[in-house]
Amino acid sequence: KTIFLKDYQVPDYLIHTVDLTFDLAEDNTLVKTQLSLVKNPSSSSDNADLVLMGENLVLHSVVLDGQTLSHPDYLQTDEQLIIANVPQQREFTLTIENSINPKANTALEGLYLSNGMLCTQCEAEGFRKITYFLDRPDVMSRYTTTIIGDKQRYPVLLSNGNKTGSGELSDNKHWVSWQDPFNKPCYLFALVAGQLECIHDTYTTQSGRVINLEIFVEPHDRDKCAHAMQSLKYSMAWDEEVYGREYDLDLYMIVAVSHFNMGAMENKGLNIFNTKFVLARPDTATDYDYEHIESVIAHEYFHNWTGNRITCRDWFQLSLKEGFTVFRDQQFTADRTSKAVKRIEDVINLRTRQFAEDAGPLAHPVRPDAYIEINNFYTLTVYEKGAEVVRMLHTLLGEQGFRKGCDWYFEKYDGQAVTCDDFVLAMTTTNPIDLEQFKLWYTQAGTPVLTVTSDYNATTQALTLNIDQHCPATPGQHVKKPMHIPVRFGLIDQQGTPIPCQVNSNTALANELILELTQASHTYVFNDIKEQPVVSLLRGFSAPVKLVMERSLDELAFLLNYDTDTFSRWDAGQQLSTQIILGLINDIQNGLALQLSPILIDAFQNLLAQSWQDLSYFSLLLSLPSETYLAEQMPIIDVVAIHKAREFVTKTLAENLQQALQTWYLNQHRDESGCFNAEAIGRRRIKNTCLHYLTTLDDAAIKNWAHQQFKTAKNMTDQMAALSVMVNNPHYARRQCLMDFYQQWQHEPLVIDKWFSLQASSPGLDTYDTVLALLKHPAFELKTPNRVRALIGSFSQGNPLHFHAANGTGYQLLSDIIIELNSLNPQLASRMLSPLTTWRRYDDSRQALMIAQLERIIATEHISRDLYEVASKSLS
Ligand code: ZN
Repeated sequence: KTIFLKDYQVPDYLIHTVDLTFDLAEDNTLVKTQLSLVKNPSSSSDNADLVLMGENLVLHSVVLDGQTLSHPDYLQTDEQLIIANVPQQREFTLTIENSINPKANTALEGLYLSNGMLCTQCEAEGFRKITYFLDRPDVMSRYTTTIIGDKQRYPVLLSNGNKTGSGELSDNKHWVSWQDPFNKPCYLFALVAGQLECIHDTYTTQSGRVINLEIFVEPHDRDKCAHAMQSLKYSMAWDEEVYGREYDLDLYMIVAVSHFNMGAMENKGLNIFNTKFVLARPDTATDYDYEHIESVIAHEYFHNWTGNRITCRDWFQLSLKEGFTVFRDQQFTADRTSKAVKRIEDVINLRTRQFAEDAGPLAHPVRPDAYIEINNFYTLTVYEKGAEVVRMLHTLLGEQGFRKGCDWYFEKYDGQAVTCDDFVLAMTTTNPIDLEQFKLWYTQAGTPVLTVTSDYNATTQALTLNIDQHCPATPGQHVKKPMHIPVRFGLIDQQGTPIPCQVNSNTALANELILELTQASHTYVFNDIKEQPVVSLLRGFSAPVKLVMERSLDELAFLLNYDTDTFSRWDAGQQLSTQIILGLINDIQNGLALQLSPILIDAFQNLLAQSWQDLSYFSLLLSLPSETYLAEQMPIIDVVAIHKAREFVTKTLAENLQQALQTWYLNQHRDESGCFNAEAIGRRRIKNTCLHYLTTLDDAAIKNWAHQQFKTAKNMTDQMAALSVMVNNPHYARRQCLMDFYQQWQHEPLVIDKWFSLQASSPGLDTYDTVLALLKHPAFELKTPNRVRALIGSFSQGNPLHFHAANGTGYQLLSDIIIELNSLNPQLASRMLSPLTTWRRYDDSRQALMIAQLERIIATEHISRDLYEVASKSLS
């Protein structure tokens, strides 16, 4: 059944207060819910029935204002509880008792069990798996929660808000009660019970309030919480400083759980996290892990204002909170680390993954207008493109204008459930700007393509720049309107010096301009340009678009050396190597001998000869576009040729630049394994980038360095980098290293995930057999999403070469797993399906094999809504 945005209606009833009592047991938890309800004065319905949602609940009793109801006063269906003739003129009380089975809940939605601990995930529609309710975000209520549990099994009992009482009971039980003073939708409800250790700290807000910060983990993880705690404190300070937002409760709790479908969840005052985004120790977590932890902690913290205090009216508005919050966490990480590096990494993710989504059968607008299963819409489009839309607003309004809009938004909508239009309204109310056309970014799917030509006339000293925009058709949207697109732009001369220019004679001269495209075609003329300039366009990736502009390899190499914008400089290098690799792919397909353009070698030589402040940025300049990115640039993806061509370029660069790479590699060794500042991280990164190039050479000394690094590393970044070299190169002692690594880390699940992932993404010839064997490894578990993603996700999404094996074994393997997951964990099953949905991009024979698997999946008995929606849309 499809749900449409256009069918939105206000709720017929409102729930003022919710009193919950849980009597916990693994396989039979009793839930008693007391609701005070009232007819919604804004509802125009005269239906006197109250329709509550509920799934997988065993109903015990329904009491209305003290009267026990029986059939036909109420009616129970698979997904609803309908209560007839409730009072229309006054507030009334409904008390429901039901029970649930957390142990049988492998879908990890509602109340479930993870390593003996009980925890919840309610977003988007999991609360209805706990009790009957108006499970929609525009019903906001005041919650109190009492939890009763066994003292030994569940010494820690947590819920949202402040602890208001606790006590002992008979039968070795105890109870704790919680009260959340803020109204909230039920998707923000949380409960946790278990044998947990608490790490405690405090934070003093701008206004001087002392907040208790608590992180709860399983006992053996106590020593891996310091970074998460520090990240939380940085996040709290940053939101005060940059957005003027202070935390509002006296307590902020974070719980880390091993079984979790997503990254983390922003439940009011009680965030629940995937362990992957909390736990870190220098020897167990890489620099990437440290950065991701900091950004996810920040993301969930920032949701307290963008999501919780102000929430979504309905799930079509998901990007209201997610796009905005991702933008905020991106800004935060940019401030905390390197702005240049953070922007580039976000753009890589967007261009490889979100652009693919936008170009495929599941393309949808940032604000979708229809869905079958909302869990399928926690997508790259809603999150990452949604963040780009907020970023464009920030670009168009400027820092201050944007902040004014945000202040108005927080002030005006506090405590409400609102829409994306309301967010835009906040911006137009506080700034002199018309955003009607801009709103197409919320409603129109697909990635716009900008086609650019430039022409310099030496006689008139004028540069003419022509930009056309076009957005390809997407499912259900055949004709697109031109969008409002900010294009950051600058000119540089042959020495790399900026040339001041102006859009028209009324505006001031500037080194950088923002061109605002609104029509299908624009022509700009820049006068008084004394010499042939080089155009630098879409600086900072100012809009989520594809840029088509013919450039020579020399011009790209020039920009790689001289562009003053760190993003465009890096992007020029990417375009340079992309053009070259695509040329080599063509040569491979035509059976020609390969030769690497000296322009790329020279450009890299140049980079290696300079000295660098930001070594992470330098590493990015030296990194070739990924196989996935290259695949996106081809009309029909040829995974074998892509892999060969890219390997050839890597190796040829290493052969030609061996000396310089070795020098960089050898000069970065410091004893700084516990250090996570930009300098130390940069040193590790450039060192390991060089190691990666060097180990493509069959050289005894290099081999020895890699083995040494593996054996002596005191941090996971260096150890993983070395192990990855061993696993991906046939001439290294890989079996032994993998065994040693497993021995060393078998008691750290997050490290073992890396061990699975690395093997599954290896280009080595026997990877398919390795994956088959690993499926039978005692440490492999279909019930643990992190493990499934590590093995199956890495194979199907991180190993195009082997997943797309011509004989179809990769597709078959993935489908087998998906069919098993369908009944265990539908959300995970549907997420794992995404690589098969791209079948249109491959040759006929692969297409046929992929379609066959999709059809097999669609025929699964009792197919879940999640899987059905993605599989059927991808075939239609
Ligand atoms: Zn979020």
